[in-house]
Amino acid sequence: MSTNNGSGLLEVEKEFTARVPVDEGQVIWQMPVALANKIAAGEVVQRPASAVKELMENALDAGATEIALYLKSAGSELIQVVDNGCGMSLQDARICLNRHTTSKIRGIEDLDSIRTFGFRGEALSSIAAISNVVLRTKRVGDEMGTEVIGDGSTGGSVTPVGTTDGTSVTVRNIFYNVPARRKFLKKPATELKHILDSVHVLSMANPSVSFRIVSDGNELMKFHARLFDEKSDALSARIGDVLSLKNPRNLIPVQETTSYLSVSGFIGRPEEVRRSRGQQYLFVNGRSVRHRYLEHAIFSAYEYLIPDGTYPLFAIFLSIDPRHVDVNVHPTKAEVKFDDERGVYSILRTVVRKTLGMAEMIPDASGAIPLQGLKLDFKANQKESFSGYGSGQSPGQVSEQLYNGHLSGVPSRATGAGGEATDFDSVESGSSADLLWQLHDAYVLTQIRTGLVIVDQQAAHERILYEKALESLSGGFGLSQQLLFPRTLEFDASDFVLLKELIPDLRSLGFDLEQFGGRSIMLRGVPADMVAGDERSVLDEIIEQYKHFEDVDHLSGHENLARSIARKSSVKPGKKLSHQEMRALIDQLFLCSTPYSSPDGRPTIVKLSVDELRERFNQKL
Ligand code: ADP
Ligand code: MG
Repeated sequence: MSTNNGSGLLEVEKEFTARVPVDEGQVIWQMPVALANKIAAGEVVQRPASAVKELMENALDAGATEIALYLKSAGSELIQVVDNGCGMSLQDARICLNRHTTSKIRGIEDLDSIRTFGFRGEALSSIAAISNVVLRTKRVGDEMGTEVIGDGSTGGSVTPVGTTDGTSVTVRNIFYNVPARRKFLKKPATELKHILDSVHVLSMANPSVSFRIVSDGNELMKFHARLFDEKSDALSARIGDVLSLKNPRNLIPVQETTSYLSVSGFIGRPEEVRRSRGQQYLFVNGRSVRHRYLEHAIFSAYEYLIPDGTYPLFAIFLSIDPRHVDVNVHPTKAEVKFDDERGVYSILRTVVRKTLGMAEMIPDASGAIPLQGLKLDFKANQKESFSGYGSGQSPGQVSEQLYNGHLSGVPSRATGAGGEATDFDSVESGSSADLLWQLHDAYVLTQIRTGLVIVDQQAAHERILYEKALESLSGGFGLSQQLLFPRTLEFDASDFVLLKELIPDLRSLGFDLEQFGGRSIMLRGVPADMVAGDERSVLDEIIEQYKHFEDVDHLSGHENLARSIARKSSVKPGKKLSHQEMRALIDQLFLCSTPYSSPDGRPTIVKLSVDELRERFNQKL
C-alpha cells in the first residue's frame, strides 16, 4: 500500500492515513467522540425497536402517564416519542445527548438500588450518534422549553423554544451513517412487529400509563390508562389489551409473597396454551427479562397438564430487593442475575404449581381463586423443591405450608384461599351429598350449586392413587395387606434388574417383598388399597407400565412408579361403584393437590352449568 502519493490515494487509504499517529513509535490513539459513540451505539441500538424501547423507558423513568409514538416507514424514516413526564431543565437538556450523562445514579453504590429502567447514560448519546435527533423538553412551571439538535458527538445546538410540558424526542434516518445496519433492516412489517413487541412489554409493566402508536398516519395501537384500585385488575385489563384471549377467564391470578421475593401476575389455564413461544412474559422489578432457566420453572409446573410441544402463556412479575439481583449484565439482552437463582426457580415453580392445582381447571369454570395470604419462609426452605403433592409426610416445609388446606384434611377450596365460597361447597356441605349417580359404570354425576359435575371415575381414581403413592414414596409408608401364602416369583433378567432397583420404593408403597436368590422375588404382601388380583400380574403390570412410561414419556423414578401404580390400581370403566364408593371418590379427589386432572393431564371433571343448560334448551333468562 502506498502512503504518500497524495491525490492518488484510494478511499480506504485516505481513511487509514488520516489515522496514522503523529509520533513515531505510537500506534495507540484516542478515538474521536463521534466514532466512539458510533461504536458504542451498536451495543444499544440494534434496530428501530431498540431506539423505541430506550426512548419509551426514558419517558417512563420521567414519570410519564401518557406516551405516544409516531413512526414513518416502520421507524426507519422517523421515530418520535412524546411524553408528559417531568421534562428537563435547559442545563440538563444541554448535556443529555452526551455519553455517560445520567440523572439516575450518582455513584457505584446506587447500582444496588436501581428502580429506573435507565442508569447507563448511553441511550440518547447512542441514538444521536447514528441518526438525526431533535429533542424538545420543558418542565412543568418553566416558562420556556429547550430544543437540542444532536450532532453525533457533543451536546449539539441548544435553543430555548416554546413547547408543551414533557419531552419529545424525534429520531430521523436511523443508521444513516452505518450503512451496514441500515441495509440489513428487515422488511417494514418485521421491524414494526419488533416495535410492537417492545411497546407491549413496556405497557404490561405499566398498566396505569396510556400508550398510543401512530404509524404512517394511522393509529396502530391505543391502550388506555388502566386505573383500578387493585393492581391486579389493572394488569389483567392491560394483558387483555395486549393478548387476544379467547376467554379472559382463562387467566389465573398468581400472588405469593415470601421473605425473599414476591410473585404476582397471571398464568394461562392449561386450555389456553400456545403452539409457539411468544406469549410468555417475565418481569423482574418491572423490567422485562429473558431467563430460560426461570421460564423453565414455569413450564415445568405445567408438566402433564398441557400437551407436549405447547407453551402456557404467562405474565409473571417478580419483585425482589434490588440487592439480590444484578441488572447490570448487558444493556439490551435483558438479562438478570439473582444471588440465589435456584431458590427463585423453586419458589416460582411451587407457586405456579400451587396456583394451577387450586384453580378450577375445568373448562368454563367460573372465576379463579386468587391465592393470597400464604406466607412462605423462603430462607428456611431454600433446598426444598416441590414435588407435586400435598402430603403430610415429608415433601418439605415449602409444600407443607402451601398445602395447608389439604393437610388439615379440609378441602382447600372450601377453606378457600381468600375464604371465598366456590361451587364445590355444596358437594361437601351435605345438602346434596346424596345426589350421586353412576352413568354407564364409568362416570359419577353429582350436583353442585351452579350445575352438574361429571367425574371420570378412572381418571379421578388415578389422581388420588398417584398423589398417595408419591406421598408414600417420599418417606411415608403405604399400608400393606399380607398375603395368606407368600409367593416366590421368577423374572427374566432385564425385568429383574429393574425390579431390584425398585425394591426400596416398592416397599414404601406397601409391597412386602425381598430378593430370594437368583432372579426370584419373595412376595409377602401388597399395598392395602390395591385392587385384588393375581399378585404375579400386579408386579408384572407395574413393571410393564414403568417401562412404557420410561420410553414414551421419559418419566423416571418416583414420578414413574407413582403413575404406574395409579394406572394399574385404579378402578376401570365397567366397575359398578356403591354409593359410599362414589362419595369417597369425590371426597378424596378434592383432597388432592391437583384435583382437576389425572396424572397424565386428562381432565378428571367436566362441569355443565345451569346457565349452559338453559342456553341449550333455549330458555330465556
Ligand atoms: P439513562 O436513561 O441511562 O439515564 P439516557 O441516555 O437514556 O440515559 O438519558 C440521559 C438522561 O436524560 C436521563 O438520565 C434523564 O435525566 C434525561 N432524559 C432522557 N429522556 C428523558 C425524558 N423523556 N424525560 C425527562 N428526562 C429525560
Ligand atoms: Mg435511558
